[in-house]
Amino acid sequence: MEFIRENANWLYLIGAILFILTLRGLSGPKTAIQGNRYGMIAMAIAVVTTFFVANNPVIWMIVGAMVLGAIVGIARARTVPMTQMPETVALMHSLVGLAAVLIAIAAILHNNQIEDLFKQNPQALLAAGIEQAHMSKVHLFELFVGCFVGAITFTASVFAYGKLAAKKWAKTISGGWVKPVQALLFIAMLACGIIFFTTHNMQAFWAMTVLALAFGWVWIAPVGGGDMPVVVSLLNSFSGWAAAGIGFTLENNMLIVAGSLVGSSGAILSYIMCKAMNRSIINVLFGGAMGGSAVAASGEKGEQVQRNYRSGSADDAGFLMSNADSVVIVPGYGMAQGRAQNAVKELCEILKEQGVTVRFAIHPVAGRMPGHMNVLLAEADVAYEDILEMDEINSDFPATDVVLVIGANDVVNPAAKDDPGSPIYGMPILEAHKARTIMVIKRSMATGYAGLDNDLFYNEKTMMIFGDAKKVVEDMTKAINGGGH
Ligand code: NDP
Repeated sequence: MEFIRENANWLYLIGAILFILTLRGLSGPKTAIQGNRYGMIAMAIAVVTTFFVANNPVIWMIVGAMVLGAIVGIARARTVPMTQMPETVALMHSLVGLAAVLIAIAAILHNNQIEDLFKQNPQALLAAGIEQAHMSKVHLFELFVGCFVGAITFTASVFAYGKLAAKKWAKTISGGWVKPVQALLFIAMLACGIIFFTTHNMQAFWAMTVLALAFGWVWIAPVGGGDMPVVVSLLNSFSGWAAAGIGFTLENNMLIVAGSLVGSSGAILSYIMCKAMNRSIINVLFGGAMGGSAVAASGEKGEQVQRNYRSGSADDAGFLMSNADSVVIVPGYGMAQGRAQNAVKELCEILKEQGVTVRFAIHPVAGRMPGHMNVLLAEADVAYEDILEMDEINSDFPATDVVLVIGANDVVNPAAKDDPGSPIYGMPILEAHKARTIMVIKRSMATGYAGLDNDLFYNEKTMMIFGDAKKVVEDMTKAINGGGH
């Protein structure tokens, strides 16, 4: 125990190095499991060390909170389906934000209590080694930043959770009033923060906290569904900075380092995702809604536009693929929703046995969270060398015999390239439309996440194969095996 206390900073340093190794490990599927292990060891070091370093900790409260958190965390981790991961992550970010706010409030109330005691009985406090009642300006500034970043993260993440979980209360807002209200809230929040910082006025502190909570909501609510992945990654970054802020307040080096790592990696991921969508972060956050603004498959303004498409059976598709030289599989949200990854792996194996070259093309925002498709394909044991990123495979589509789109929609929508009026215009896509033959597995002609019709489905080279992804892929495998179904 004494050893831990005396060497706390060394232990924190080891923890920080392990966190850096964690991030390095998580950057590739082969090393991700090892990366996760480093993260678990680092976290254990951080928690145990902090436990012993704390001044007069109320043991039952800390252990009680840890046990409760562990029970909820384990239960959630065991039951959450992969498709609900993004909203779960958003909800977790909200807890980091809330923790930052509560710690800031606790630190300020504690300081106020000491100030009062100082006024009543300074000698007793001096005798107890407490020499100063006022927090330093630096301390107040840290609290101010930790509290307002935490409050914004909290409400913005709760909204992101609601939006991703399609809750009724998480409605996208729009209108001319939104930007002025955002600006007013932001300015009022800053003004209250500055008043608190200079006068130590508690009313200003409470007002700043409430305004920051309101700002978080009004700030994220206009962002459309299609941009939510970037928002979640940005909130991940925010939760990191809020944690770093708490680290300064609590004078905990480990928290400062871990918070900064989360903050900067989240910011880098947001940048990469914005690049993948050909948008700027400012445009995402303040450009208004993109996606979710359903332009129905039947056409705009409700008019019924009948468009022709070709449909075929799993048998036809199996026959065509087994006679192809090259097949590229484009998985999307539907593969996750239909839990089809293992069936897809089996199809891939059987095609390879027939001498077909099979590769996977992954769009950075396919599915509902960054890396969604990579995780599912890794789970099904698909060889890493067969999985290619958008930039690596896009130039190969014109020479590809068959593209098999499994439950993907927005990420192969040619409107992103051809239609300047489309809300997703400019977003890079997997250029499946350039292949010789295109097959699309989905259950209907319904739109994808962004609510947009997709010209690819009406392309004369395209064959729609309707049905649940898993069932259709299994039927294809049976057909190739010669068994029919
Ligand atoms: P989309 O949401 O565009 O399309 C998925 C398609 O899968 C739907 O059209 C649906 O059609 C079909 N589908 C659903 N369930 C099944 C099933 N069981 N079997 C067969 N088909 C099924 O997915 P994409 O992957 O192409 O694009 C992702 C979208 O999600 C993008 O707009 C992205 O911005 C957004 N997003 C991405 C996040 C990320 O981080 N990756 C996070 C949040 C949003 P049907 O109903 O007819 O079957």
